[in-house]
Amino acid sequence: MPSDLVIVYHRQPYEEVVENGKTVFKENKSPNGIVPTLKSFFGKVDNAAWVAWKLAEDEANPGFEKVVHIEDSFGKYTVSRLPLTEAQVTSFYHVTSKEAFWPILHGFKEKYNYDPVDWPTFREVNWAFAQAAAAEAAEGAAVWVHDYNLWLVPGYLRQLRPDVRISFFHHTPFPAADMFNVLPWRGEIIDSLLACDVVGFHIPRYAANFVSVVRSQYDVGEVPRVAVDPDFISEGSALSDRTVPKEIRVDGRIVQLGTTPVGVDTDYIDSVSAREETATSAKEIKQELGDAKLILSVGRTDYTKGGAAQLLAFERLLERRPDMIGQVRLLHVSVSANRSMTVYESIQSEIEEIAGRINGRFGTFTSQPVVLISRAIPFERLVAYYRAADVCWITPLADGMNLVAKEFAASRTDGDGVLILSEFAGAAMELSAAILTNPYSNKSMDHAVDLALDLPEDERRQRMQELRRVVKKYNTQAWARDQLALLSPKDFGKDDPRAA
Ligand code: UDP
Repeated sequence: MPSDLVIVYHRQPYEEVVENGKTVFKENKSPNGIVPTLKSFFGKVDNAAWVAWKLAEDEANPGFEKVVHIEDSFGKYTVSRLPLTEAQVTSFYHVTSKEAFWPILHGFKEKYNYDPVDWPTFREVNWAFAQAAAAEAAEGAAVWVHDYNLWLVPGYLRQLRPDVRISFFHHTPFPAADMFNVLPWRGEIIDSLLACDVVGFHIPRYAANFVSVVRSQYDVGEVPRVAVDPDFISEGSALSDRTVPKEIRVDGRIVQLGTTPVGVDTDYIDSVSAREETATSAKEIKQELGDAKLILSVGRTDYTKGGAAQLLAFERLLERRPDMIGQVRLLHVSVSANRSMTVYESIQSEIEEIAGRINGRFGTFTSQPVVLISRAIPFERLVAYYRAADVCWITPLADGMNLVAKEFAASRTDGDGVLILSEFAGAAMELSAAILTNPYSNKSMDHAVDLALDLPEDERRQRMQELRRVVKKYNTQAWARDQLALLSPKDFGKDDPRAA
């Protein structure tokens, strides 16, 4: 059955497991994250499809059904599984996307690795995704493509299916021309994105950067800008813009630019927060701490997350304020990548080395100032840590959005807790009530942590109230509403007043 909505996302929207010799599709264990948010769209159309890849030894004879029909709590939908060999996945995803695109998207030219990129394979995989999407889409359907590893899909899809409405969403930052144009394939990528009806970003700055990149290749004339909603202006901070471009015209075509920050599922987090087990876990964590304060840091082990710089700031805190030794503990959750890439390995070692040194310098038999966890913590347990923490310390060097910061605020139904947030995280636009800091400056990092530890209760509560207001207002449901309006103002989201 042709689909009115086709979501193109590299991962499958369920967990595929073999039970008693039979393949079963189970809903993802964790109900938070982007996959359930995207799946929530299935309930809004009659026929929906999802396109993802699945590992195959031989792509011509994959040994599995390419198209399966799923029915779960999100509704009925079709999943088209593109068979890719391990070599193709390594090349298009781990090498081209992670070693070449990822550093440039986040502004790390020095980490950019051109040599191993096999561009024909990247094209081939993106072409296969476009073909699979074209095969699923009904006449005039909306096709929603996600993230930079599928950058060439819109251009190919437009060739195959001029009738469909294509929307592309970037879950990462988008850099300005000086950075983006390091990519030698920039022309091809931009031409593909310009084949979209909508190109989406988290925040106004990324949309403006996109315009700067397009402008470096085409004369796009005047690009009108409109005022940014005050909720998305973080006065004076690094990524803040007061106006935002809404569309760009190239060769007589109009490409809409959407700026819709991904939010968190506040209803779900509320429900986890309210659970008896969560309260018990949070209490146990507090008991373990005794009189000490808990600073919590959560992220992936990635050079963009600034883990090492943060640990060094913690070391300086204990040097600067010896009275704090034994009075403050840092739980540093840095989830290591599950595959061995040299760049991630060296960051992991650096983090372990600094954490070990701090504990060696300042720890005792009964108390170690840093607790380093490199494994993923189940979300429910994470909420208990969010609730027990005095300070949540999130200082990426670059981050498209950062959902941890939002989850922390959403978890604090008690109205207390302090958030320190890097001004280089997209989330800082909405979360201007956090203590914003510049992770490139030791002075700024030191000042922020001192301020957070000493903040009087009434100010903590005032700030938290404002954080919770915006996190709730711009939650996943709000994002879904805005995306529906962008996907097709005419045919989707008829119950949404914005989809006029
Ligand atoms: N997360 C988790 N357990 C962990 C660490 C992280 O469940 O031990 C989740 C966290 O709750 C959040 C996501 O992983 O939903 C990380 O998203 P974020 O936007 O902060 O960073 P990303 O990894 O996407 O750059």
